[in-house]
Amino acid sequence: MKIFCIGRNYANHTKELGNAIPSEPLFFLKPDTAIQPKGHPFFIPHFSDDIHYEVELVIKIHKTGKHIEEQFAHKYYSEIGLGIDFTARDVQQECKAKGLPWEKAKGFDGSAQISGTFINKFDLDLDNINFSLEKNHEQVQIGNSKDMLFSFDKIIAYLSKFYTLKIGDLIYTGTPEGVGKVKKKDSLKGFIGEKEMFKVLVK
Ligand code: MG
Repeated sequence: MKIFCIGRNYANHTKELGNAIPSEPLFFLKPDTAIQPKGHPFFIPHFSDDIHYEVELVIKIHKTGKHIEEQFAHKYYSEIGLGIDFTARDVQQECKAKGLPWEKAKGFDGSAQISGTFINKFDLDLDNINFSLEKNHEQVQIGNSKDMLFSFDKIIAYLSKFYTLKIGDLIYTGTPEGVGKVKKKDSLKGFIGEKEMFKVLVK
Protein backbone atom coordinates (compact mmCIF):
# COMPACT_ATOMS: atom_id res chain seq x y z
CA MET A 1 0.00 0.00 0.00
CA LYS A 2 1.27 3.46 -0.92
CA ILE A 3 0.51 6.81 0.63
CA PHE A 4 0.85 9.76 -1.72
CA CYS A 5 0.75 13.31 -0.41
CA ILE A 6 0.20 16.38 -2.54
CA GLY A 7 2.01 19.53 -1.44
CA ARG A 8 1.10 23.14 -2.17
CA ASN A 9 -2.39 22.37 -3.48
CA TYR A 10 -4.05 25.36 -1.79
CA ALA A 11 -2.75 28.79 -2.81
CA ASN A 12 -3.16 30.42 0.62
CA HIS A 13 -1.24 27.65 2.41
CA THR A 14 1.47 27.73 -0.27
CA LYS A 15 1.89 31.45 0.40
CA GLU A 16 1.90 31.09 4.20
CA LEU A 17 5.02 28.90 3.91
CA GLY A 18 6.61 31.30 1.42
CA ASN A 19 6.52 28.83 -1.49
CA ALA A 20 5.76 29.43 -5.17
CA ILE A 21 2.45 28.26 -6.70
CA PRO A 22 3.27 25.02 -8.57
CA SER A 23 2.47 24.58 -12.27
CA GLU A 24 2.03 20.81 -11.87
CA PRO A 25 1.18 18.72 -8.76
CA LEU A 26 4.01 18.38 -6.28
CA PHE A 27 3.99 15.12 -4.34
CA PHE A 28 5.91 12.87 -2.00
CA LEU A 29 5.23 9.47 -0.43
CA LYS A 30 4.96 8.16 3.11
CA PRO A 31 5.55 4.47 3.94
CA ASP A 32 2.65 2.35 5.26
CA THR A 33 4.25 2.43 8.73
CA ALA A 34 3.33 6.14 8.84
CA ILE A 35 -0.33 5.22 9.32
CA GLN A 36 -1.45 6.04 12.83
CA PRO A 37 -3.29 3.00 14.25
CA LYS A 38 -6.93 3.90 14.92
CA GLY A 39 -7.52 5.31 18.39
CA HIS A 40 -3.82 5.65 19.20
CA PRO A 41 -2.42 8.96 20.43
CA PHE A 42 0.10 10.83 18.30
CA PHE A 43 3.51 10.78 19.98
CA ILE A 44 5.73 13.78 19.24
CA PRO A 45 8.94 12.25 17.86
CA HIS A 46 12.20 12.92 19.71
CA PHE A 47 13.91 14.47 16.67
CA SER A 48 11.64 17.50 16.27
CA ASP A 49 10.61 20.55 18.30
CA ASP A 50 8.17 21.79 15.69
CA ILE A 51 5.57 19.22 14.61
CA HIS A 52 2.78 20.77 12.54
CA TYR A 53 -0.72 19.49 11.81
CA GLU A 54 -1.94 19.66 8.18
CA VAL A 55 -5.55 18.54 7.77
CA GLU A 56 -6.26 17.05 4.31
CA LEU A 57 -8.99 15.32 2.32
CA VAL A 58 -7.86 11.79 1.45
CA ILE A 59 -8.81 9.76 -1.62
CA LYS A 60 -8.86 5.96 -1.32
CA ILE A 61 -8.05 4.14 -4.58
CA HIS A 62 -10.34 1.18 -5.30
CA LYS A 63 -9.15 0.07 -8.73
CA THR A 64 -5.68 -0.63 -10.10
CA GLY A 65 -4.51 1.65 -12.90
CA LYS A 66 -1.61 3.26 -14.72
CA HIS A 67 -1.62 6.13 -17.21
CA ILE A 68 -5.16 7.02 -16.20
CA GLU A 69 -6.73 9.78 -18.27
CA GLU A 70 -8.26 12.61 -16.28
CA GLN A 71 -11.71 11.98 -17.78
CA PHE A 72 -11.66 8.39 -16.43
CA ALA A 73 -9.97 9.16 -13.08
CA HIS A 74 -13.31 9.24 -11.21
CA LYS A 75 -13.63 5.47 -11.80
CA TYR A 76 -10.61 4.80 -9.63
CA TYR A 77 -11.99 6.01 -6.30
CA SER A 78 -15.31 5.82 -4.53
CA GLU A 79 -14.62 7.16 -1.06
CA ILE A 80 -13.18 10.26 0.58
CA GLY A 81 -11.73 10.38 4.08
CA LEU A 82 -9.88 12.90 6.18
CA GLY A 83 -6.37 12.80 7.59
CA ILE A 84 -3.49 14.77 9.01
CA ASP A 85 -0.14 14.95 7.27
CA PHE A 86 1.96 15.47 10.42
CA THR A 87 5.14 17.32 9.47
CA ALA A 88 8.38 17.96 11.34
CA ARG A 89 8.58 21.53 10.07
CA ASP A 90 12.02 22.21 11.56
CA VAL A 91 13.49 19.09 9.91
CA GLN A 92 11.71 19.90 6.64
CA GLN A 93 13.08 23.48 6.58
CA GLU A 94 16.57 22.15 7.18
CA CYS A 95 16.23 19.62 4.34
CA LYS A 96 14.78 22.27 2.00
CA ALA A 97 17.61 24.71 2.82
CA LYS A 98 20.14 22.03 1.89
CA GLY A 99 18.22 20.93 -1.21
CA LEU A 100 17.74 17.45 0.32
CA PRO A 101 14.67 15.15 0.21
CA TRP A 102 12.05 15.69 2.95
CA GLU A 103 11.27 12.04 3.74
CA LYS A 104 12.38 12.10 7.37
CA ALA A 105 10.27 15.22 8.02
CA LYS A 106 7.16 13.65 6.53
CA GLY A 107 7.25 9.85 6.60
CA PHE A 108 8.01 8.98 10.22
CA ASP A 109 5.87 6.52 12.22
CA GLY A 110 2.47 7.96 13.06
CA SER A 111 2.78 10.88 10.63
CA ALA A 112 -0.31 9.83 8.66
CA GLN A 113 -3.44 10.24 10.76
CA ILE A 114 -6.43 8.79 8.90
CA SER A 115 -10.15 8.71 9.61
CA GLY A 116 -11.64 5.34 10.62
CA THR A 117 -14.46 5.79 8.12
CA PHE A 118 -14.64 7.16 4.61
CA ILE A 119 -17.60 8.85 2.90
CA ASN A 120 -19.05 7.59 -0.36
CA LYS A 121 -18.22 10.16 -3.04
CA PHE A 122 -21.83 10.15 -4.25
CA ASP A 123 -22.84 11.55 -0.86
CA LEU A 124 -20.53 14.54 -1.41
CA ASP A 125 -20.31 17.40 -3.88
CA LEU A 126 -16.68 16.74 -4.81
CA ASP A 127 -16.09 20.32 -5.95
CA ASN A 128 -17.46 21.76 -2.72
CA ILE A 129 -16.36 19.67 0.28
CA ASN A 130 -15.97 21.66 3.47
CA PHE A 131 -13.51 20.26 5.97
CA SER A 132 -11.91 21.55 9.13
CA LEU A 133 -9.66 20.85 12.08
CA GLU A 134 -10.20 21.77 15.71
CA LYS A 135 -7.38 22.01 18.22
CA ASN A 136 -8.53 21.97 21.84
CA HIS A 137 -12.10 22.76 20.66
CA GLU A 138 -11.03 25.80 18.64
CA GLN A 139 -11.17 25.75 14.84
CA VAL A 140 -7.64 26.18 13.46
CA GLN A 141 -8.02 25.11 9.82
CA ILE A 142 -10.95 25.31 7.44
CA GLY A 143 -10.79 24.30 3.78
CA ASN A 144 -12.94 23.58 0.78
CA SER A 145 -12.10 21.29 -2.12
CA LYS A 146 -13.11 24.06 -4.56
CA ASP A 147 -9.89 25.86 -3.62
CA MET A 148 -7.60 23.01 -4.67
CA LEU A 149 -5.18 24.02 -7.42
CA PHE A 150 -5.35 20.45 -8.79
CA SER A 151 -8.62 18.48 -8.59
CA PHE A 152 -8.89 14.86 -7.42
CA ASP A 153 -9.09 13.71 -11.04
CA LYS A 154 -6.09 15.78 -12.14
CA ILE A 155 -4.05 14.41 -9.22
CA ILE A 156 -4.91 10.80 -10.09
CA ALA A 157 -4.06 11.33 -13.76
CA TYR A 158 -0.75 12.92 -12.83
CA LEU A 159 0.37 10.37 -10.20
CA SER A 160 -0.53 7.45 -12.46
CA LYS A 161 1.96 8.66 -15.07
CA PHE A 162 4.73 7.65 -12.67
CA TYR A 163 3.23 4.98 -10.39
CA THR A 164 0.76 2.14 -10.75
CA LEU A 165 -2.11 3.00 -8.44
CA LYS A 166 -3.36 -0.02 -6.50
CA ILE A 167 -6.44 -0.83 -4.46
CA GLY A 168 -6.11 0.66 -0.98
CA ASP A 169 -3.54 3.32 -1.89
CA LEU A 170 -4.26 6.65 -0.19
CA ILE A 171 -3.78 10.12 -1.62
CA TYR A 172 -3.59 13.07 0.80
CA THR A 173 -4.68 15.99 -1.33
CA GLY A 174 -3.00 18.94 0.36
CA THR A 175 -3.76 21.27 3.25
CA PRO A 176 -5.41 24.67 3.39
CA GLU A 177 -3.94 27.61 5.32
CA GLY A 178 -3.69 27.68 9.10
CA VAL A 179 -1.12 24.95 9.74
CA GLY A 180 0.48 25.13 13.16
CA LYS A 181 2.40 23.47 15.91
CA VAL A 182 1.16 20.77 18.26
CA LYS A 183 2.23 20.26 21.83
CA LYS A 184 1.68 17.52 24.38
CA LYS A 185 -1.93 17.18 25.62
CA ASP A 186 -3.40 18.89 22.54
CA SER A 187 -6.56 17.28 21.26
CA LEU A 188 -7.22 17.39 17.50
CA LYS A 189 -10.57 16.70 15.85
CA GLY A 190 -11.16 16.57 12.09
CA PHE A 191 -14.47 17.18 10.32
CA ILE A 192 -15.94 16.81 6.86
CA GLY A 193 -18.86 19.21 6.94
CA GLU A 194 -20.41 18.60 10.38
CA LYS A 195 -19.32 14.97 10.56
CA GLU A 196 -16.52 14.17 13.01
CA MET A 197 -14.02 12.00 11.11
CA PHE A 198 -11.27 11.49 13.70
CA LYS A 199 -10.05 12.58 17.10
CA VAL A 200 -6.44 12.26 18.22
CA LEU A 201 -4.62 13.16 21.40
CA VAL A 202 -1.03 14.44 21.24
CA LYS A 203 1.45 12.92 23.70
MG1 MG B 1 0.52 18.16 3.50
